[in-house]
Amino acid sequence: MTQLKLDTDAKITWCPGCGNFAILNAIKPVLLELNDEGILPLENVVLVSGIGCHAKIVDYIDINSFYSIHGRTIPVATGIKLANPELTVICFTGDGDAYAEGLDHLIFAAKRNVNITTIIHNNRVYGLTTGQYTPTSPTNFKGKSTPFGLDVRPINPLDIAFTSGATFIARGYSHGIDLLKDIFKKAVLHQGFSFVDVLQVCVSFFNMYQYYNQNTYRLEEHDPEDHDAAYEKIREWDYNSNDCATPHIPLGIFYREDSKTFETNFLNSGLSTEDRDLEIKASLKSYL
Ligand code: SF4
Repeated sequence: MTQLKLDTDAKITWCPGCGNFAILNAIKPVLLELNDEGILPLENVVLVSGIGCHAKIVDYIDINSFYSIHGRTIPVATGIKLANPELTVICFTGDGDAYAEGLDHLIFAAKRNVNITTIIHNNRVYGLTTGQYTPTSPTNFKGKSTPFGLDVRPINPLDIAFTSGATFIARGYSHGIDLLKDIFKKAVLHQGFSFVDVLQVCVSFFNMYQYYNQNTYRLEEHDPEDHDAAYEKIREWDYNSNDCATPHIPLGIFYREDSKTFETNFLNSGLSTEDRDLEIKASLKSYL
């Protein structure tokens, strides 16, 4: 099977050099590989995206997908997973999407260990609306809404995911497709909430290639099952653009844990199918 199999007729409208291309070019071979290996048939995969430049990715992959609304990729994915646990659900979401308006959904999905994969296209700027700051923009960031420089610190989303209970936590970079493929495959196969923050460079409004090239490094000899070591590595970089003598932005899998998933608890709750359907509907209504 070739990668062409998943191409669509949609014209790709991302800016040349945008980091979204790397995410697209990493996830497609992973899905084809899992299909060819007989592990995950393509018809059992559902993609969900939010609002922002990242969201167009579902138009470019010939797989069942759901274009949701801003900040609501995770609850939509949760609903799909609960309605049909046989499906593998992958969310693509932006940093403005997942870390601002959708942050509470991220926390609850991590806390509940919902068995979905969330890939955050973290360009640290609102690219589609031409350059406003997001929760992960660094201090002094200058953009459309902060022409004199941002005077607050960024959040560390890995720290939030970790303390909320995510059972798979990783960080990739859009200039490292092999690592992205490796992380995506493991994230999709993980049974539980997989959280993958990708430093996805926006060449038009926040071009960080040089900074990331100089300051990222791959996690080696790190045991992702070591809780304390994971916490230390997660806190090594605070998402501010400090100059350091040595690379200080780790990339790779920080944390992995086996734990009961939300849908397992839900399916074993003793509720009838009808009551479960009612609960799913009520749950989705409260989310949207
Ligand atoms: Fe990519 Fe930024 Fe262009 Fe959006 S504005 S397509 S994130 S480079």
